[in-house]
Order: sequence, then structure tokens, then C-alpha cells
Amino acid sequence: MSDCWICGAQADSGEHKIKKTDLQRAVSGTVNQKSPIYHRVSGIKKRPIGSLKAEALKFEKSICATCNGSLTQPHDYSWNILSSYLADNVIEVGKEIDLINVFEGDIEENVLNVHLFFCKIFGCAVLDAKLELDLSNLANSIRTQSSCSDLYIKIRRSNNGKSSSYCALSDLQVFTLEGGGMKYVHLFYTVGNYSVDIVYSTDIAGLDLTDYFKPNGAIAKVVIGSVEYNQEYSAQTTS
Ligand SMILES: [Zn+2]
Repeated sequence: MSDCWICGAQADSGEHKIKKTDLQRAVSGTVNQKSPIYHRVSGIKKRPIGSLKAEALKFEKSICATCNGSLTQPHDYSWNILSSYLADNVIEVGKEIDLINVFEGDIEENVLNVHLFFCKIFGCAVLDAKLELDLSNLANSIRTQSSCSDLYIKIRRSNNGKSSSYCALSDLQVFTLEGGGMKYVHLFYTVGNYSVDIVYSTDIAGLDLTDYFKPNGAIAKVVIGSVEYNQEYSAQTTS
């Protein structure tokens, strides 16, 4: 068994690639053997899944039960509140979400929690893809409940022509510089009509981060971004 990438204990827990509450909300009904959801990964045929707890819906075990449980529960919880709001409200591209209408408690704390939820998803995706990337700053942010300076998220309409029950976690796209260094890694998390783009970069010079955000202690509104973005860097490798 490998070590938990967040705290170093034994990794005995696999996080859902798409949160179970998101899957449940998107499919809106009971999932069982008689009414399964359909699951597909690159190159593998669609197959029915009769439970939202199925291992196929999770990352490989790369964190421990404590990190997946009590440590990150507040992050999951804040994301669930925002996700529920996004599912219930059709907000067009360019329009703002006033976070005072979303969160009842401290907005800053909730924004940080949502950010840390995607830090966890991103870190687990990196390990699943066996991408060599130092996750220590992400782990440190999650452990110390502080913002990770290298991770940005954007909320947008999915605009993918799929049904509102379509959920997906994209493959990681790794953009490298001509000299071989990594410029950034991109991943997106889709639940029905909206998606969250996640960009990780230690050098954002030249990147188009329009409508992306990270906690800065003063976020009151979030703009719904568009699906388009125009990075100067072209994909050289995709894992
Ligand atoms: Zn752990």
C-alpha cells in the first residue's frame, strides 16, 4: 500500500472522482442493479454500475481514511453547498454568483474550503495518472487549511451537448515548455450543466486565467466563465 499523499499515513482510501453527492444530484433517482448509471473511461466500453459506492467511480487509493474523512469533510461540505446552488440555478456565462446567496456562514472560509476540495481532487488525479508532480504544496495547504498559491479554479457552463445527468472528470492535460519544463496542468470536473476548470501552475506568466480565482480573503462574487480559453502554450503531451 502506498502512502497518503496528504499526510504520509497508509493510503487506505479512494476518493470519488466525482463526489457522490454530485452524482446523486445529477442522476436524481435511485441507482441500483436495475437502474444503473453508465460509466466509461478512455478506451473502455460503457458499462453499467449499480451503486454510487462502486470502486470504479473512485480514484486508486492514494489517501488515508482520516484525510478523506474528518480532515477534508468541511471542504466537501462547502463544495456541496455551492454545487447544489449551481444545480438549482441556471446562471449564464459572464453573470456573477453573489456568494452571499450561496453560503450561510463565513464566505471566505467557504471559498477556501471549495478551493481545498479541488486541491484534493487534483492531487488524487495526478497520482491516478502517475504524473510526476510535487504535491507537497497542495498537501500542505490541505493540512494547514490554507490557500495553495499554485491552484486556480473557474466555474463555467459545461456547453458540451450532453444531458444534465452527464458527469465526468477529464484526463489531465499537461502543457510543457519547449525546454521540457511544465507550464501548467489542466483538469476539469463536470456535473451536468456546469463544470469546474482546475489549473495548476507554478509560473502563470502568459497564462489566460480569465475568471479563474483562488481564495484571497475578499471574494464576494464569482463570474461564470466560458468554455473557451486561449492559452499561448499548445499541448505537447497529454496523459
Ligand atoms: Zn492522510
